Amino acid sequence: MMECSYQEPIGQTTEVAGRFAPSPTGQLHLGNLRTAVVAWCAARASGLEFLVRVEDLLRIPQSDAIESAQIADLAALGIISDRPVVRQSERSHLYEAALATLAERGRTYECYCTRREIAAEIAASVSAPHGRSLGRTSDHYPGTCARLSERKRRQHQREGRPAALRITGTTTEISGTDLVAGSYSATVDDFVVRRGDGIAAYNLAVVIDDAAQGVTQVVRGNDLLESTPRQMFLQSLLGLPTPAYAHVPLVVGSDGERLAKRHANTDGGVTLRELQSAGQHPGDVMAGLLMSTGWIGTPMSASGMIPGEIVEEIRATRNRVDLGALAEVLRDKCGEPAHNPTLNWRVTPHSPICRDTL
Ligand SMILES: [Zn+2]
Repeated sequence: MMECSYQEPIGQTTEVAGRFAPSPTGQLHLGNLRTAVVAWCAARASGLEFLVRVEDLLRIPQSDAIESAQIADLAALGIISDRPVVRQSERSHLYEAALATLAERGRTYECYCTRREIAAEIAASVSAPHGRSLGRTSDHYPGTCARLSERKRRQHQREGRPAALRITGTTTEISGTDLVAGSYSATVDDFVVRRGDGIAAYNLAVVIDDAAQGVTQVVRGNDLLESTPRQMFLQSLLGLPTPAYAHVPLVVGSDGERLAKRHANTDGGVTLRELQSAGQHPGDVMAGLLMSTGWIGTPMSASGMIPGEIVEEIRATRNRVDLGALAEVLRDKCGEPAHNPTLNWRVTPHSPICRDTL
């Protein structure tokens, strides 16, 4: 049952939605756009609202301009939020309310460690004879500050060390099934829920936002798969529902590396603007992105096609359109790299998640 303190008024809208949540740190490239297209199609095909959320916990001076450009690029492809776009930078009150709840339940503690100290502690615990007695994997936070003496805590405070907030993790496994990547399980370490500079950590913010916005379907890049057990753990602690997750393969450049802006030098345009400068119509880009998902098996003239027609095209090709059917096709596409010579991309082959990497 959802807890009311994190629920924001959503008026007459339905409480079920899919979403795309870009960070305004750089222009969207084809990999980001492909994930947006998949998320949008999945929401539309499932009869859900589609939301765009700006994940700007960490803002840079150009964030406003980048955000505008990202939303304009999405709109050029026909991808428009059904509700006003929300920004994480304006929602710290929701995150603080959740942090207060976790603190009341005795689930958080202050951590004064620097990255270097954590790395040294992990190195020492791995070489110690009983270093793995907690059953945690090697990159997990070793729990140093969970055992901090009051004297040591006061010393850190006198030194002016910033305190992050960590959550007490699990020793039992969290298990889930991803619609694309399949089943996984992992223990969750004492991860950070509020950074030393006072900003909510991504894992906390995303969980609160998804619940507050009634998001029931999360389609995102599979680089975020490994943080999903942490988010599921927070949902269970806060009594929030767990959405259906579908982590889609990332687009890579011709060198096999995850697509980035630098690929414009070797692979041609990687952003919508670059492709438009090279004479491509946004509708052609949308068609190329859809074909790369395998949902549309034959070339089509998508220029000028409106979003509803695209979903109808998928429906006509595949007889049924829902998230399960789309995930089936995406899973098939995971088996081998797909290369689109027009747009010069490939989709990474999926490798099953390994709990040791969590
Ligand atoms: Zn610490």
